[in-house]
Amino acid sequence: MSQSTFKRKAHAAYFTRCMRALPSQAQEHDANRVTIAFFCLAGLELLGVLPQDGERDDWIEWLWSLQADSGGFSGSPSATAHLPSTYTALSALALLRAPLDKLNRAGLAAFLRACQAPDGSFAPTTEIEGEFQNDVRMSYCAAIARAVLRAPGRTSAGAGPGPSDSSGTATVAASVDEIPDVDVKAAIGFLDKCKTWEGGYSARPGLEAQGGTTYCATAALSLFGGLTVSDHAASIMDTTRWLTQRQIGGFQGRPGKLEDVCYSFWCGGALATLSLASLVNAPPNTSFLLDAQSPIGGFGKAPEDFPDPFHSYLALAALALTPARDELGLKELDPVWNLPPVARDWLLSGGNESA
Ligand SMILES: [Zn+2]
Repeated sequence: MSQSTFKRKAHAAYFTRCMRALPSQAQEHDANRVTIAFFCLAGLELLGVLPQDGERDDWIEWLWSLQADSGGFSGSPSATAHLPSTYTALSALALLRAPLDKLNRAGLAAFLRACQAPDGSFAPTTEIEGEFQNDVRMSYCAAIARAVLRAPGRTSAGAGPGPSDSSGTATVAASVDEIPDVDVKAAIGFLDKCKTWEGGYSARPGLEAQGGTTYCATAALSLFGGLTVSDHAASIMDTTRWLTQRQIGGFQGRPGKLEDVCYSFWCGGALATLSLASLVNAPPNTSFLLDAQSPIGGFGKAPEDFPDPFHSYLALAALALTPARDELGLKELDPVWNLPPVARDWLLSGGNESA
């Protein structure tokens, strides 16, 4: 039986508790911390209760402390830059509406280029030998960071310090065209090779398609300009079929697997990225998601499971893509950026306070 009541207050309390329970800032080597912070902040934002005062300034200061000297963000202060931490730190700064004047744009551009391999894939850091960790999740993180760097609406006020010339005088911040870009053609080529015969996308070429990697690949292709979105585009029909076939009531990640709330976002978000969110059978999906609510707030991966920040946020994000969004009082979500449009636009405007 479906739990008809949306436990809004309990969810807000759950995310707040998780934020406060994060390990202390002295904790070393905790790359997950910034990711958990992103899930909690994003959950509070979708619920419309993200505080814009008090603790906000402390979180912003902490996020900037993760910016590596050479560009990009790490999981903990003084660690090396890491692509997933860079993506979640930028998104968290957007959720907090932090001015981006401290963003080392030239360093970030250099970091992204250094992470890219000749086959177009991206490594999580510049220090990993071989390409076994290069997968479509890293392509997505790189695509978001690149889109922030190349935002058309960025003004000089939000552009941050420009590179210094040989005399040590700060030059005018580089325009979009002057920022060295990654190899976009190769990045798209790698993603295309991850498409399987079934139509979904795998983490790397030759592996099995999965819901999460299909979301990352379609959203990254959208950001890199490598996706033709049209109801009739033959190139997305097999992907569309694979995604819609993952719906049981909620969604499974692969054929033969059980439903899990995170796949309602990964598969539903991929369909929304293809402008085909209407193909989700909304009532059973919404019921499954609401049934996975925990009495103490948050969501488990399925009904009766213990909640965690990852599934709690992705369940809310999935609900934000359903027709029930208004009724539940959730903010709108841009499926490609995995952020509300106002936070996405914050990044695209350069985080300019006057924007
Ligand atoms: Zn899951």
